[in-house]
Amino acid sequence: MVGSGPAGLTFARVLHRHGHPVTVLERDPAPDARPPGGTLDLREGMGQRALDKAGLLAEFQALARPEGQAMRILDTDGTVLRDWRPRPDDRANPEIDRRQLRDLLLGPLDVQWGRGVTRVVPGSRDGVQVHFADGRQETFDLVVGADGAWSRTRRAVSSVTPHYTGVTSVETSLDDIDTRHADLAPLIGDGSVAAYGVNRALVAQRNSGGHVKVYAQFRAPLDWHTHMDLADAEAVRASLLALFDGWTAPVLDLLRHGAAFVHRPLYVLPVSHTWPHVLGVTLLGDAAHLMPPLGAGANLAMLEGAELAESLATGPGDLDGTVRAFEERMWARAARWAKITTAGLERLVSPDPTAALALFDQVQPS
Ligand SMILES: Cc1cc2nc3c(=O)[nH]c(=O)nc-3n(C[C@H](O)[C@H](O)[C@H](O)COP(=O)(O)OP(=O)(O)OC[C@H]3O[C@@H](n4cnc5c(N)ncnc54)[C@H](O)[C@@H]3O)c2cc1C
Repeated sequence: MVGSGPAGLTFARVLHRHGHPVTVLERDPAPDARPPGGTLDLREGMGQRALDKAGLLAEFQALARPEGQAMRILDTDGTVLRDWRPRPDDRANPEIDRRQLRDLLLGPLDVQWGRGVTRVVPGSRDGVQVHFADGRQETFDLVVGADGAWSRTRRAVSSVTPHYTGVTSVETSLDDIDTRHADLAPLIGDGSVAAYGVNRALVAQRNSGGHVKVYAQFRAPLDWHTHMDLADAEAVRASLLALFDGWTAPVLDLLRHGAAFVHRPLYVLPVSHTWPHVLGVTLLGDAAHLMPPLGAGANLAMLEGAELAESLATGPGDLDGTVRAFEERMWARAARWAKITTAGLERLVSPDPTAALALFDQVQPS
């Protein structure tokens, strides 16, 4: 297994539950080497089903924040357009911090940290060769690439690379919102707040412990920032405030108080990314089907990890046949979600902001 994101860890944890050892090779030198990112909503039939297969659903439910499903939509002048709150017993899409999810999945797993894979070479007599950044090399029967958007494993099966969507996201965060920014806390509530303007969106999401992640999204050429240093937080802040000029003050305050800024141009793989089957190598999650971040990627990644692991552990022992059947199922389902999320991004960061509201009304239960 290459990668210890949601796909890799779920795969490894389900195999572990069935008594099969699995080696997880992770490039990061330690679990907390990078900030883990924002909150994830895990859907009942997807991420939660995967956790059930891993025997971790009850532990997830104890950590998850069902109230985090709440969603408020504002006009750019601050008018509240929608204010949706889940019922107290609503468990359809509860939120969980990525760090909590990772620790839950890690449990007893043996992850080899600091083992960046540079190349995966199928077709040798002894199996699939894996080359590492430190120059070492090992051979495996099956290499499952769950190494994310810029997967090195993918090169062993496909020449396709991600392309830019035309939408960039710049992320910032605020700590202790309830005490340090008490005036902004009611704006965000228990879950998320979003405002949509012409080709712009600003979304803030509550994580646990009063931490809030803010995403400023806008249509722009990939080189929109060439005039500034992205490491200069004040320059990025000024640039974002200019981009969102005229929006209501409390929404802009989310940018004014943001600590640091992370630049994330949104890349995707083609909607139907498939490849001629290669003996001994397959892909899961973003490595197989990177799509816009609209609540499906981690869910699919986990479900795929759980399903492949379960089929391998409980199947008739035909490793290659099991992987082939899994790929067919994964491709069909991922293509459906890639279409949905691609169309969703078009509407959420759109020349016509009413398209975003219409999308919300379409998908949100009343
Ligand atoms: C802002 C944002 C919000 C999102 N919100 C949601 C949400 O609410 N719900 C949802 O379902 N999805 C969401 N997503 C999408 C989700 O984060 C991804 O789809 C998901 O993380 C994919 O999981 P993965 O395991 O395939 O890949 P990743 O999470 O990218 O994990 C890949 C792992 O592989 C490791 N790795 C990479 N290269 C190598 C290498 N060469 N050798 C060894 N290891 C390597 C990486 O260090 C990493 O640990 C969001 C995405 C973004 C950007």
